Amino acid sequence: MTDGTPLPNRSSRIAGFHKKSPRERLDLVASFADLAPDVVERLSDFGNLPPDLGDRLIENVVSTMNIPIGVATNMKVDGEDVLVPMATEESSVVAAVCNAARQNYDTGFATSVSGNLMIAQVQAVGISDPHAARIRILERRSEIQAICDGCDPVLVRLGGGFRDLEVRVLDTLGGPMVVTHLIVDTRDAMGANAVNTMAETIAPHVARWSGGRVYLRILSNLADRRLARAHAVWRTAEIGGPEVRDGILSAYHFAEADPYRAATHNKGIMNGISAVVLATGNDTRAIEAGAHAYAARSGRYTSLTRYETTAEGDLSASIELPLAVGLVGGATKLHPTAQACLKILGVPTAERLARIIAAVGLAQNFSALKALATTGIQKGHMALHAQNIAMMAGAVGDEIETVARTLVERGTVRVDVAEKVLQDLRKS
Ligand code: NAD
Repeated sequence: MTDGTPLPNRSSRIAGFHKKSPRERLDLVASFADLAPDVVERLSDFGNLPPDLGDRLIENVVSTMNIPIGVATNMKVDGEDVLVPMATEESSVVAAVCNAARQNYDTGFATSVSGNLMIAQVQAVGISDPHAARIRILERRSEIQAICDGCDPVLVRLGGGFRDLEVRVLDTLGGPMVVTHLIVDTRDAMGANAVNTMAETIAPHVARWSGGRVYLRILSNLADRRLARAHAVWRTAEIGGPEVRDGILSAYHFAEADPYRAATHNKGIMNGISAVVLATGNDTRAIEAGAHAYAARSGRYTSLTRYETTAEGDLSASIELPLAVGLVGGATKLHPTAQACLKILGVPTAERLARIIAAVGLAQNFSALKALATTGIQKGHMALHAQNIAMMAGAVGDEIETVARTLVERGTVRVDVAEKVLQDLRKS
Protein backbone atom coordinates (compact mmCIF):
# COMPACT_ATOMS: atom_id res chain seq x y z
CA MET A 1 0.00 0.00 0.00
CA THR A 2 1.36 3.42 -0.92
CA ASP A 3 -0.03 6.95 -0.78
CA GLY A 4 1.39 7.74 -4.20
CA THR A 5 4.83 8.98 -3.06
CA PRO A 6 7.68 6.95 -4.56
CA LEU A 7 9.00 4.17 -2.34
CA PRO A 8 12.57 4.66 -1.19
CA ASN A 9 15.23 2.62 -2.95
CA ARG A 10 16.03 -0.15 -0.42
CA SER A 11 18.82 -1.93 -2.30
CA SER A 12 22.36 -1.70 -0.91
CA ARG A 13 23.70 -2.64 -4.36
CA ILE A 14 24.35 0.84 -5.69
CA ALA A 15 26.31 0.73 -8.94
CA GLY A 16 29.17 3.22 -9.15
CA PHE A 17 28.50 4.65 -5.65
CA HIS A 18 32.20 5.31 -5.13
CA LYS A 19 32.42 7.32 -8.37
CA LYS A 20 29.72 9.79 -7.34
CA SER A 21 30.19 13.10 -5.54
CA PRO A 22 29.54 13.28 -1.75
CA ARG A 23 26.27 15.12 -2.43
CA GLU A 24 25.09 12.55 -5.01
CA ARG A 25 25.90 9.74 -2.57
CA LEU A 26 24.10 11.56 0.22
CA ASP A 27 20.97 11.85 -1.93
CA LEU A 28 21.08 8.12 -2.65
CA VAL A 29 21.50 7.34 1.06
CA ALA A 30 18.68 9.76 1.88
CA SER A 31 16.42 7.89 -0.51
CA PHE A 32 17.45 4.52 0.99
CA ALA A 33 16.90 5.65 4.58
CA ASP A 34 14.06 8.06 3.89
CA LEU A 35 15.91 10.97 5.47
CA ALA A 36 14.01 14.23 5.92
CA PRO A 37 15.22 17.19 3.80
CA ASP A 38 16.44 19.14 6.87
CA VAL A 39 18.53 16.15 7.98
CA VAL A 40 20.05 15.89 4.52
CA GLU A 41 20.89 19.59 4.53
CA ARG A 42 22.59 19.29 7.90
CA LEU A 43 24.58 16.26 6.79
CA SER A 44 25.71 18.07 3.65
CA ASP A 45 27.44 20.72 5.80
CA PHE A 46 31.01 19.43 6.15
CA GLY A 47 31.89 21.93 8.88
CA ASN A 48 35.62 22.57 9.11
CA LEU A 49 36.63 19.79 6.71
CA PRO A 50 36.57 20.80 3.03
CA PRO A 51 34.31 18.28 1.21
CA ASP A 52 36.95 17.61 -1.47
CA LEU A 53 39.47 16.74 1.18
CA GLY A 54 37.04 14.53 3.10
CA ASP A 55 36.31 12.74 -0.16
CA ARG A 56 40.00 12.01 -0.56
CA LEU A 57 40.68 10.85 3.00
CA ILE A 58 38.28 7.88 2.96
CA GLU A 59 35.90 6.13 0.56
CA ASN A 60 32.21 6.69 -0.19
CA VAL A 61 32.07 9.94 1.81
CA VAL A 62 28.66 11.51 2.43
CA SER A 63 29.20 13.75 5.47
CA THR A 64 31.34 14.40 8.54
CA MET A 65 30.88 13.67 12.24
CA ASN A 66 31.51 16.77 14.29
CA ILE A 67 33.03 16.10 17.70
CA PRO A 68 33.56 19.02 20.10
CA ILE A 69 37.13 20.13 20.76
CA GLY A 70 37.73 21.33 24.30
CA VAL A 71 41.01 22.86 25.45
CA ALA A 72 42.60 21.61 28.65
CA THR A 73 44.20 24.37 30.70
CA ASN A 74 46.74 24.33 33.57
CA MET A 75 49.04 21.80 31.90
CA LYS A 76 52.76 22.29 32.40
CA VAL A 77 54.91 19.70 30.63
CA ASP A 78 58.67 19.70 31.21
CA GLY A 79 58.49 23.23 32.59
CA GLU A 80 56.52 24.61 29.63
CA ASP A 81 52.87 25.69 29.78
CA VAL A 82 50.71 24.06 27.12
CA LEU A 83 47.09 24.33 26.06
CA VAL A 84 45.84 20.93 24.98
CA PRO A 85 43.04 20.56 22.40
CA MET A 86 40.96 17.45 23.06
CA ALA A 87 38.32 16.06 20.68
CA THR A 88 35.80 13.99 22.58
CA GLU A 89 32.07 13.49 22.85
CA GLU A 90 32.30 12.47 26.53
CA SER A 91 31.53 14.97 29.26
CA SER A 92 34.00 15.54 32.12
CA VAL A 93 37.05 14.36 30.16
CA VAL A 94 38.46 17.83 29.52
CA ALA A 95 37.49 19.05 33.00
CA ALA A 96 39.29 16.07 34.56
CA VAL A 97 42.58 17.03 32.90
CA CYS A 98 42.18 20.71 33.89
CA ASN A 99 41.50 19.72 37.51
CA ALA A 100 44.40 17.30 37.80
CA ALA A 101 46.82 19.77 36.24
CA ARG A 102 45.61 22.60 38.49
CA GLN A 103 46.49 20.53 41.54
CA ASN A 104 50.13 20.05 40.48
CA TYR A 105 50.66 23.16 38.34
CA ASP A 106 53.74 24.22 40.36
CA THR A 107 55.68 21.10 39.51
CA GLY A 108 53.82 19.91 36.40
CA PHE A 109 54.72 16.79 34.45
CA ALA A 110 58.15 15.44 33.60
CA THR A 111 58.21 13.38 30.41
CA SER A 112 60.51 11.33 28.20
CA VAL A 113 60.41 8.88 25.29
CA SER A 114 62.31 5.71 24.48
CA GLY A 115 62.72 6.61 20.80
CA ASN A 116 60.89 6.94 17.49
CA LEU A 117 61.25 3.32 16.44
CA MET A 118 58.49 1.41 14.68
CA ILE A 119 58.45 -2.33 14.02
CA ALA A 120 57.32 -3.92 10.75
CA GLN A 121 56.75 -7.67 10.70
CA VAL A 122 57.32 -10.10 7.82
CA GLN A 123 55.80 -13.55 8.36
CA ALA A 124 57.44 -16.54 6.67
CA VAL A 125 56.01 -20.09 6.90
CA GLY A 126 56.68 -23.58 5.58
CA ILE A 127 60.39 -23.49 6.43
CA SER A 128 62.08 -26.82 7.10
CA ASP A 129 64.99 -25.32 9.08
CA PRO A 130 63.50 -22.24 10.79
CA HIS A 131 66.40 -21.66 13.19
CA ALA A 132 68.97 -21.74 10.40
CA ALA A 133 66.65 -19.52 8.30
CA ARG A 134 66.68 -17.02 11.15
CA ILE A 135 70.47 -16.89 11.01
CA ARG A 136 70.47 -16.61 7.20
CA ILE A 137 68.18 -13.57 7.41
CA LEU A 138 70.23 -11.97 10.20
CA GLU A 139 73.36 -12.36 8.03
CA ARG A 140 71.76 -10.07 5.45
CA ARG A 141 71.47 -7.10 7.78
CA SER A 142 73.38 -4.62 5.63
CA GLU A 143 71.52 -5.72 2.47
CA ILE A 144 68.23 -5.33 4.34
CA GLN A 145 69.24 -1.89 5.56
CA ALA A 146 70.05 -0.77 2.01
CA ILE A 147 66.73 -2.09 0.65
CA CYS A 148 64.67 -0.49 3.44
CA ASP A 149 66.44 2.86 3.26
CA GLY A 150 66.07 2.79 -0.53
CA CYS A 151 62.27 2.70 -0.02
CA ASP A 152 62.15 6.09 1.72
CA PRO A 153 64.98 8.50 0.84
CA VAL A 154 62.97 11.38 2.36
CA LEU A 155 62.93 9.65 5.74
CA VAL A 156 66.66 8.90 5.50
CA ARG A 157 67.41 12.51 4.59
CA LEU A 158 65.52 13.58 7.73
CA GLY A 159 67.74 11.36 9.88
CA GLY A 160 65.39 8.35 10.02
CA GLY A 161 65.34 4.98 8.30
CA PHE A 162 66.33 1.40 9.09
CA ARG A 163 67.90 0.95 12.52
CA ASP A 164 67.84 -2.70 13.47
CA LEU A 165 66.86 -6.23 12.55
CA GLU A 166 65.29 -8.87 14.75
CA VAL A 167 64.27 -12.37 13.65
CA ARG A 168 62.12 -14.59 15.86
CA VAL A 169 61.09 -18.22 15.48
CA LEU A 170 57.52 -18.60 16.70
CA ASP A 171 55.98 -21.91 17.66
CA THR A 172 52.40 -21.61 16.36
CA LEU A 173 49.31 -23.76 15.84
CA GLY A 174 50.32 -23.99 12.18
CA GLY A 175 53.93 -24.99 12.91
CA PRO A 176 57.07 -22.88 13.20
CA MET A 177 57.06 -19.39 11.72
CA VAL A 178 60.01 -17.14 11.09
CA VAL A 179 59.05 -13.55 11.83
CA THR A 180 61.39 -10.79 10.72
CA HIS A 181 61.17 -7.42 12.47
CA LEU A 182 62.38 -4.35 10.62
CA ILE A 183 63.04 -1.65 13.18
CA VAL A 184 62.78 1.78 11.63
CA ASP A 185 63.14 5.34 12.91
CA THR A 186 60.16 7.14 11.37
CA ARG A 187 60.99 10.59 12.80
CA ASP A 188 57.91 12.81 12.80
CA ALA A 189 55.66 10.31 11.00
CA MET A 190 53.55 7.68 12.72
CA GLY A 191 55.20 5.55 10.10
CA ALA A 192 52.65 2.87 9.17
CA ASN A 193 52.89 3.46 5.43
CA ALA A 194 56.61 4.01 5.63
CA VAL A 195 57.37 0.69 7.32
CA ASN A 196 54.68 -1.27 5.47
CA THR A 197 56.35 -0.35 2.17
CA MET A 198 59.68 -1.55 3.55
CA ALA A 199 58.14 -4.83 4.74
CA GLU A 200 56.53 -5.45 1.34
CA THR A 201 59.77 -4.68 -0.48
CA ILE A 202 61.87 -6.95 1.70
CA ALA A 203 59.36 -9.83 1.61
CA PRO A 204 60.48 -11.60 -1.62
CA HIS A 205 64.05 -11.54 -0.34
CA VAL A 206 62.99 -13.04 3.00
CA ALA A 207 61.14 -15.77 1.10
CA ARG A 208 64.30 -16.57 -0.88
CA TRP A 209 66.68 -16.50 2.10
CA SER A 210 64.39 -18.52 4.34
CA GLY A 211 63.23 -21.03 1.73
CA GLY A 212 59.66 -20.45 2.91
CA ARG A 213 56.56 -18.61 1.84
CA VAL A 214 55.87 -15.06 2.98
CA TYR A 215 52.36 -13.99 3.91
CA LEU A 216 51.85 -10.94 6.16
CA ARG A 217 53.96 -7.80 5.79
CA ILE A 218 52.76 -5.05 8.09
CA LEU A 219 53.69 -2.92 11.10
CA SER A 220 53.06 -3.97 14.68
CA ASN A 221 50.90 -1.59 16.69
CA LEU A 222 52.68 -2.86 19.80
CA ALA A 223 55.18 -0.03 19.29
CA ASP A 224 57.22 -0.88 22.38
CA ARG A 225 60.29 0.90 21.01
CA ARG A 226 58.31 4.12 20.88
CA LEU A 227 57.27 4.44 24.50
CA ALA A 228 56.23 7.76 25.99
CA ARG A 229 56.53 8.31 29.73
CA ALA A 230 55.25 10.90 32.17
CA HIS A 231 55.75 11.38 35.87
CA ALA A 232 54.11 13.77 38.32
CA VAL A 233 53.82 14.36 42.04
CA TRP A 234 50.60 15.53 43.67
CA ARG A 235 51.17 16.94 47.15
CA THR A 236 49.02 15.17 49.68
CA ALA A 237 48.14 18.47 51.35
CA GLU A 238 46.83 19.83 48.03
CA ILE A 239 44.67 16.88 47.06
CA GLY A 240 42.66 16.62 50.26
CA GLY A 241 44.94 14.85 52.72
CA PRO A 242 46.24 11.34 53.42
CA GLU A 243 42.83 9.71 53.14
CA VAL A 244 42.40 10.88 49.56
CA ARG A 245 45.97 9.82 48.73
CA ASP A 246 45.39 6.38 50.21
CA GLY A 247 42.10 6.04 48.35
CA ILE A 248 43.91 6.76 45.07
CA LEU A 249 46.66 4.29 45.95
CA SER A 250 44.07 1.65 46.77
CA ALA A 251 42.25 2.30 43.47
CA TYR A 252 45.56 1.76 41.68
CA HIS A 253 46.25 -1.44 43.62
CA PHE A 254 42.81 -2.68 42.55
CA ALA A 255 43.53 -1.93 38.85
CA GLU A 256 46.98 -3.46 39.10
CA ALA A 257 45.55 -6.70 40.46
CA ASP A 258 42.32 -7.11 38.51
CA PRO A 259 41.83 -7.04 34.69
CA TYR A 260 38.12 -6.21 35.15
CA ARG A 261 39.08 -3.03 36.94
CA ALA A 262 42.20 -2.41 34.81
CA ALA A 263 40.10 -2.31 31.62
CA THR A 264 38.04 0.59 33.01
CA HIS A 265 41.06 2.24 34.62
CA ASN A 266 42.88 2.21 31.25
CA LYS A 267 39.72 3.27 29.40
CA GLY A 268 39.78 6.41 31.53
CA ILE A 269 43.42 7.01 30.60
CA MET A 270 42.50 6.59 26.93
CA ASN A 271 39.65 9.12 27.36
CA GLY A 272 42.39 11.72 27.61
CA ILE A 273 44.89 10.18 25.23
CA SER A 274 42.50 9.37 22.37
CA ALA A 275 41.00 12.86 22.58
CA VAL A 276 44.36 14.50 21.83
CA VAL A 277 45.22 11.82 19.27
CA LEU A 278 41.94 12.54 17.45
CA ALA A 279 42.26 16.33 17.69
CA THR A 280 45.67 16.12 16.02
CA GLY A 281 44.44 13.86 13.20
CA ASN A 282 46.36 10.85 14.46
CA ASP A 283 45.18 7.23 14.39
CA THR A 284 43.16 6.53 17.56
CA ARG A 285 42.85 2.80 16.83
CA ALA A 286 46.60 2.39 16.45
CA ILE A 287 47.17 4.11 19.79
CA GLU A 288 44.42 2.16 21.55
CA ALA A 289 45.71 -1.18 20.19
CA GLY A 290 49.26 -0.35 21.28
CA ALA A 291 48.20 0.79 24.74
CA HIS A 292 46.12 -2.27 25.56
CA ALA A 293 48.67 -4.70 24.12
CA TYR A 294 51.33 -3.00 26.24
CA ALA A 295 49.11 -3.23 29.32
CA ALA A 296 49.03 -7.01 28.79
CA ARG A 297 52.73 -7.44 28.02
CA SER A 298 53.44 -9.53 31.13
CA GLY A 299 50.71 -12.01 30.14
CA ARG A 300 48.26 -10.42 32.58
CA TYR A 301 46.34 -7.28 31.61
CA THR A 302 47.08 -4.54 34.14
CA SER A 303 47.22 -0.79 34.77
CA LEU A 304 49.12 1.53 32.42
CA THR A 305 49.84 3.86 35.35
CA ARG A 306 51.55 3.34 38.69
CA TYR A 307 51.05 5.17 41.98
CA GLU A 308 53.46 5.25 44.91
CA THR A 309 54.23 7.46 47.87
CA THR A 310 57.28 9.74 47.87
CA ALA A 311 59.63 9.90 50.85
CA GLU A 312 57.71 13.05 51.90
CA GLY A 313 54.39 11.20 51.80
CA ASP A 314 53.12 12.74 48.56
CA LEU A 315 51.52 10.90 45.68
CA SER A 316 53.98 9.90 42.96
CA ALA A 317 52.32 8.89 39.70
CA SER A 318 53.75 7.61 36.44
CA ILE A 319 52.64 6.27 33.08
CA GLU A 320 54.42 4.45 30.24
CA LEU A 321 52.84 3.33 26.97
CA PRO A 322 53.53 3.13 23.25
CA LEU A 323 52.53 6.37 21.53
CA ALA A 324 53.13 6.22 17.79
CA VAL A 325 51.86 9.64 16.78
CA GLY A 326 53.00 11.86 13.95
CA LEU A 327 53.04 15.43 12.71
CA VAL A 328 53.08 14.32 9.07
CA GLY A 329 51.23 11.50 7.32
CA GLY A 330 47.60 10.44 7.46
CA ALA A 331 45.22 13.27 8.34
CA THR A 332 47.70 15.13 10.56
CA LYS A 333 49.03 17.34 7.79
CA LEU A 334 45.90 17.40 5.63
CA HIS A 335 43.06 18.14 8.04
CA PRO A 336 42.94 21.90 8.70
CA THR A 337 41.57 21.33 12.22
CA ALA A 338 44.37 18.89 13.04
CA GLN A 339 46.87 21.46 11.82
CA ALA A 340 45.25 24.13 14.01
CA CYS A 341 45.35 21.82 17.03
CA LEU A 342 49.03 21.05 16.44
CA LYS A 343 49.66 24.81 16.25
CA ILE A 344 47.84 25.34 19.58
CA LEU A 345 50.01 22.62 21.12
CA GLY A 346 53.11 24.23 19.61
CA VAL A 347 54.85 20.88 19.18
CA PRO A 348 58.01 20.97 17.05
CA THR A 349 58.38 17.17 16.90
CA ALA A 350 56.25 14.03 17.10
CA GLU A 351 58.24 13.14 20.19
CA ARG A 352 57.07 16.28 21.99
CA LEU A 353 53.48 15.50 21.00
CA ALA A 354 53.80 11.97 22.43
CA ARG A 355 55.21 13.35 25.67
CA ILE A 356 52.33 15.80 26.12
CA ILE A 357 49.82 13.05 25.35
CA ALA A 358 51.38 10.78 28.00
CA ALA A 359 51.05 13.62 30.53
CA VAL A 360 47.39 14.08 29.56
CA GLY A 361 46.78 10.35 30.11
CA LEU A 362 48.29 10.58 33.58
CA ALA A 363 46.31 13.72 34.46
CA GLN A 364 43.10 12.07 33.31
CA ASN A 365 43.80 8.99 35.38
CA PHE A 366 44.64 10.96 38.52
CA SER A 367 41.33 12.84 38.32
CA ALA A 368 39.31 9.70 37.68
CA LEU A 369 40.90 7.85 40.61
CA LYS A 370 40.51 10.84 42.90
CA ALA A 371 36.83 11.17 42.03
CA LEU A 372 36.24 7.43 42.37
CA ALA A 373 38.03 7.25 45.70
CA THR A 374 36.14 10.24 47.13
CA THR A 375 32.82 11.61 45.87
CA GLY A 376 32.33 9.00 43.13
CA ILE A 377 32.40 9.66 39.42
CA GLN A 378 28.76 10.63 38.95
CA LYS A 379 28.87 13.89 40.88
CA GLY A 380 31.36 15.50 38.51
CA HIS A 381 29.59 14.02 35.51
CA MET A 382 26.16 15.19 36.56
CA ALA A 383 26.11 18.82 35.43
CA LEU A 384 27.05 18.03 31.83
CA HIS A 385 25.18 14.75 31.82
CA ALA A 386 22.04 16.62 32.96
CA GLN A 387 22.43 18.97 29.99
CA ASN A 388 22.63 16.00 27.63
CA ILE A 389 19.50 14.53 29.23
CA ALA A 390 17.73 17.89 28.95
CA MET A 391 18.54 18.00 25.22
CA MET A 392 17.36 14.40 24.81
CA ALA A 393 14.05 15.50 26.35
CA GLY A 394 13.76 18.20 23.70
CA ALA A 395 15.08 21.28 25.54
CA VAL A 396 16.60 23.96 23.32
CA GLY A 397 18.46 27.23 23.94
CA ASP A 398 18.14 28.58 27.47
CA GLU A 399 15.78 25.74 28.40
CA ILE A 400 18.75 23.31 28.45
CA GLU A 401 20.48 25.06 31.35
CA THR A 402 17.24 25.56 33.30
CA VAL A 403 16.09 21.95 32.90
CA ALA A 404 19.58 20.59 33.67
CA ARG A 405 19.84 22.70 36.83
CA THR A 406 16.45 21.50 38.03
CA LEU A 407 17.42 17.87 37.43
CA VAL A 408 20.66 18.26 39.41
CA GLU A 409 18.84 20.07 42.25
CA ARG A 410 16.29 17.28 42.46
CA GLY A 411 19.05 14.67 42.29
CA THR A 412 17.17 12.76 39.57
CA VAL A 413 18.83 13.05 36.20
CA ARG A 414 16.43 11.03 34.05
CA VAL A 415 14.91 11.73 30.67
CA ASP A 416 11.31 11.16 31.85
CA VAL A 417 11.83 13.68 34.64
CA ALA A 418 13.45 16.08 32.18
CA GLU A 419 10.42 15.84 29.88
CA LYS A 420 8.12 16.72 32.79
CA VAL A 421 10.33 19.63 33.88
CA LEU A 422 10.41 20.89 30.31
CA GLN A 423 6.62 20.66 30.00
CA ASP A 424 6.17 22.64 33.24
CA LEU A 425 8.74 25.20 32.13
CA ARG A 426 6.99 25.75 28.80
CA LYS A 427 3.59 26.07 30.53
CA SER A 428 4.93 28.70 32.89
P1 NAD B 1 52.70 8.81 5.30
O1 NAD B 1 53.23 7.66 4.52
O2 NAD B 1 51.54 9.54 4.73
O3 NAD B 1 53.84 9.85 5.58
C1 NAD B 1 55.10 9.45 6.02
C2 NAD B 1 56.15 9.85 5.00
O4 NAD B 1 56.28 11.25 4.95
C3 NAD B 1 57.51 9.32 5.38
O5 NAD B 1 57.65 8.01 4.92
C4 NAD B 1 58.43 10.32 4.70
O6 NAD B 1 58.74 9.91 3.40
C5 NAD B 1 57.61 11.60 4.61
N1 NAD B 1 58.03 12.68 5.55
C6 NAD B 1 58.03 14.00 5.28
N2 NAD B 1 58.44 14.71 6.35
C7 NAD B 1 58.69 13.84 7.34
C8 NAD B 1 59.12 13.95 8.70
N3 NAD B 1 59.39 15.14 9.25
N4 NAD B 1 59.23 12.82 9.44
C9 NAD B 1 58.96 11.63 8.91
N5 NAD B 1 58.57 11.44 7.63
C10 NAD B 1 58.42 12.53 6.83
O7 NAD B 1 52.29 8.43 6.78
P2 NAD B 1 52.71 7.31 7.79
O8 NAD B 1 53.05 8.00 9.06
O9 NAD B 1 53.74 6.37 7.23
O10 NAD B 1 51.34 6.52 7.95
C11 NAD B 1 50.34 6.97 8.83
C12 NAD B 1 48.99 6.54 8.32
O11 NAD B 1 48.94 5.13 8.12
C13 NAD B 1 47.89 6.84 9.32
O12 NAD B 1 46.85 7.48 8.65
C14 NAD B 1 47.42 5.45 9.76
O13 NAD B 1 46.05 5.50 10.07
C15 NAD B 1 47.69 4.62 8.58
N6 NAD B 1 47.82 3.17 8.76
C16 NAD B 1 47.87 2.58 9.99
C17 NAD B 1 48.00 1.22 10.11
C18 NAD B 1 48.08 0.59 11.48
O14 NAD B 1 48.21 1.31 12.46
N7 NAD B 1 48.02 -0.72 11.62
C19 NAD B 1 48.12 0.43 8.96
C20 NAD B 1 48.10 1.06 7.72
C21 NAD B 1 47.95 2.43 7.62
